[in-house]
Amino acid sequence: MAQLWKGAPVAAALTAELAARAEKLRASGIVPALAIVRVGQQPDDIAYESAAARRCEKIGIAVKPFYLSADCTAEQLLQTIDEINGDAAIHGCLLLRPLADKKLEEAAWARLASEKNMDEPPCTAQACMELLDFYGVELQGKNTCVVGRSAVVGRPVRELLEARGAVVTVCHSQTEDLPGTCKASELLVSAVGKAGLITADCVSAGQIVIDVGINETPEGTLCGDVDFAAAEPVVSAITPVPGGVGNVTTAVLCKHVIEAAERA
Ligand code: NDP
Repeated sequence: MAQLWKGAPVAAALTAELAARAEKLRASGIVPALAIVRVGQQPDDIAYESAAARRCEKIGIAVKPFYLSADCTAEQLLQTIDEINGDAAIHGCLLLRPLADKKLEEAAWARLASEKNMDEPPCTAQACMELLDFYGVELQGKNTCVVGRSAVVGRPVRELLEARGAVVTVCHSQTEDLPGTCKASELLVSAVGKAGLITADCVSAGQIVIDVGINETPEGTLCGDVDFAAAEPVVSAITPVPGGVGNVTTAVLCKHVIEAAERA
């Protein structure tokens, strides 16, 4: 039976540490502040924005929302970004993605001052690292398999793991032997978005499994990429979905804001 590595205690520890740092900043007259830019009213965006605002409130970060309509012009969005770039009282910006207009998303992303971009490295990828650190995983030399290679999750996870000395193999939609490659790793991170992709054939005894995937079941509940019922009896530790990596993401966002405010 595997240890269940939940995200909540990781987020709670980070929140406590960040609240103390925010308090110090406020004592020296700096109110850490995050701008949230939302284009349109996508339910996913609104849910993430609410979760981020709640986490900010717990820590003592001021939130400044900037809302644009789904049919806003490129000029309106870029003007908003310029306003945020020019406001010294705003330390970081979260641009809710993806936008329907990919080109506009890229333009806005490029326009945002790099020191104010709070999704760099992407919060979800960093959340995986926080979780591994919290549960005491030594990454140096660790034989790791990352499934998924997107710019938002898979690739930055690989980069962060490699920066810590892990030996990383990346699997993607064209990988010939997914089960064999996954099974051979000590640490398996799945970031695909396909329920049940990681079957019993993909896991082995002693393995750590981090499930980043978020999928909807036919019953309307959430699940990860990993067949949890099949993997859990085999591996040594596993993150649940929901309640795993996703719970750490907003705390990482707040960490980026506090770091930016401290630098400023
Ligand atoms: P993308 O669709 O952008 O990328 C999916 C990746 O999975 C691609 O690299 C793709 O390969 C690969 N892939 C697709 N099918 C297979 C397969 N059969 N076998 C192996 N690899 C496959 O998704 P994202 O990276 O944006 O998101 C991944 C998951 O993470 C989603 O479930 C998303 O909801 C979740 N997520 C979770 C967050 C959290 O906070 N927990 C935050 C953000 C995302 P290829 O490159 O060849 O196409």
